[in-house]
Amino acid sequence: MNKNRRGQSRRHPLRLPLPAQNSAVRSQINGSHCSSPPPHCQVASCLQLPQFAGAHTRVTTPKSTNPPPAMDAATAAMVWFRKGLRVHDNPALDAARRGAVRLYPVFVLDPRYLRPEPAAPSPGSARAGVARVRFLLESLSDLDARLRSLGSRLLLLRARDDVADTVCAALKDWNIGKLCFESDTEPYALARDKKVMDFAAASGIDVLSPTSHTLFHPAEIIEKNGGRPPLTYQSFVAIAGHPPEPVMEEYSELPPVGDTGGYELLPVPEVEELGYGDISQEELSPFRGGETEALKRMRESLQDKEWVARFEKPNGDPSAFLKPATTVLSPYLKFGCLSSRYFYHCIQEIYRSAKKHTNPPVSLTGQLLWRDFFYTVSFGTPNFDQMRGNKICKQISWTENEELFLAWRDGRTGYPWIDAIMIQLRRWGWMHHLARHSVACFLTRGDLFVHWEKGRDVFERLLIDSDWSINNGNWLWLSCSSFFHQYHRIYSPISFGKKYDPNGNYIRHFIPVLKDMPKEYIYEPWTAPLSIQKKAKCIVGKDYPKPVVDHETASKECRKRMGEAYASNRLDEKPAKGKSSNSSPRKRQLTPNSAKTKQLKRSS
Ligand SMILES: Cc1cc2nc3c(=O)[nH]c(=O)nc-3n(C[C@H](O)[C@H](O)[C@H](O)COP(=O)(O)OP(=O)(O)OC[C@H]3O[C@@H](n4cnc5c(N)ncnc54)[C@H](O)[C@@H]3O)c2cc1C
Repeated sequence: MNKNRRGQSRRHPLRLPLPAQNSAVRSQINGSHCSSPPPHCQVASCLQLPQFAGAHTRVTTPKSTNPPPAMDAATAAMVWFRKGLRVHDNPALDAARRGAVRLYPVFVLDPRYLRPEPAAPSPGSARAGVARVRFLLESLSDLDARLRSLGSRLLLLRARDDVADTVCAALKDWNIGKLCFESDTEPYALARDKKVMDFAAASGIDVLSPTSHTLFHPAEIIEKNGGRPPLTYQSFVAIAGHPPEPVMEEYSELPPVGDTGGYELLPVPEVEELGYGDISQEELSPFRGGETEALKRMRESLQDKEWVARFEKPNGDPSAFLKPATTVLSPYLKFGCLSSRYFYHCIQEIYRSAKKHTNPPVSLTGQLLWRDFFYTVSFGTPNFDQMRGNKICKQISWTENEELFLAWRDGRTGYPWIDAIMIQLRRWGWMHHLARHSVACFLTRGDLFVHWEKGRDVFERLLIDSDWSINNGNWLWLSCSSFFHQYHRIYSPISFGKKYDPNGNYIRHFIPVLKDMPKEYIYEPWTAPLSIQKKAKCIVGKDYPKPVVDHETASKECRKRMGEAYASNRLDEKPAKGKSSNSSPRKRQLTPNSAKTKQLKRSS
């Protein structure tokens, strides 16, 4: 184990050569420091609920007047929660508590995600729908309760603009000697964390930033792969090997919180207090946030060992909503209420006692490896979240058609299967994987030929499990822009859902106006005779929209345009002949959990 300047143990120092384009990350992973502090570190203000609602609210209490607590910085540690909202398997918390006489567990509310946006298409901020905000607040309340049960508490701060400024101010005001936070590889997080690390370096504060959001650190995999991210799941799995063990230590208590000076510490707000207007009519997600709920949900999912051993995506029903066909642990993994390593190891334990079990990519551990796969590729691919400048993304002339896009976004395409999924997205923030496939394919290469980035943005805002790497990776995949290239295989917006749910119960639940439509017409209500429409109290074109496109014609046109786009991409790739190209189509592709997915040989 390495020792830091104060002779304390560093538990997870990763010192890895990183892709050259990412020097900021190098300093983060290595825990090394950059030279200068930010010119001005604004002082943190704690959450002041009455003022929080307005987008332009000014924070009134200047905290720079607080005298720093007169205690020894060497014994004061801060654990800065961002994701990783849990106590179990939390190496950052574990590192922070070791040797600390005072421990400051901090979370900073970020206006980037929380500031109300009245012009948004549904309540919430510009970047997060109200369902995800509520999930976050519930997760924070639960974390606070868990910390309190260990003699600590969550110190909730509110950033005026920049979270890094708020953290820097608290570090200074509270005379912190050691800062610990979970490594985060998203571009926004990298820039934010670099700013804090620069400040810490200039202030002589030790920084520890262990990996625990994913099974592996993406840089580690990239290094093992010769400096480039593996672009197929098979090669990723072959390189990755087994993830490290989770931190299994259980605490009976944590060091007490130190003096917080004049900081006013307020409880976690309710979502209604955040200024998103009247949300009483919103049908919010049935999935509640927090580590307690995450562990309960995981245990319930794993209780049926036979189910775990036989888990095989895509053999689940995407229309099952009362009892979803998969675990619905994604929002808990997204916020880190559940540790992916802990989850992985619990599944492995079940495998050990099972006579036989499924394997990646279709198994339950295989799903967690998909997650790490997308984290790795996104980390090592510049401009991963856009078409332009992204060398693994096909360049496609998508159609600019706002009307079609809005019909898709708002669940009024006239195809009940597609609309029900989009309504579930808006209300619950979660849909089954194959439901996501259906609507992503429909928007892009299947029917509407609208740019995947537009669909990605809608998912990014509304999903409660919204995850930068996974969301972008799957949109690239579904639009046949990267990873998967069988663009002629298109999901039918009619027969695909019908196969699982012939009676249309899922549609009836999310689109009540169709609840009395006979099952013969529920997937194609425009084909119902007028007398039947009248009887069902649903006139197509009046009570429910007519289809925005004819699927047969539209999908044929999409195939043609994709064929042209692929041909022109091939031409563009020609000059690079002889050079291995990241964007060249691979002969054999696996779809994540798609109907044609084949079982990989056990390679991990
Ligand atoms: C267009 C599109 C966008 C998506 N956006 C997101 C997103 O923003 N966040 C997100 O977590 N998932 C996303 N997914 C992947 C997948 O649909 C969800 O992870 C899954 O449906 C979550 O349900 P679950 O927890 O019951 O999954 P389970 O089947 O129970 O799997 C367990 C865990 O494995 C991971 N996982 C499963 N499938 C995938 C996958 N294909 N890629 C990466 N990780 C996976 C998730 O963390 C999941 O919680 C997207 C899929 C598509 C097609």
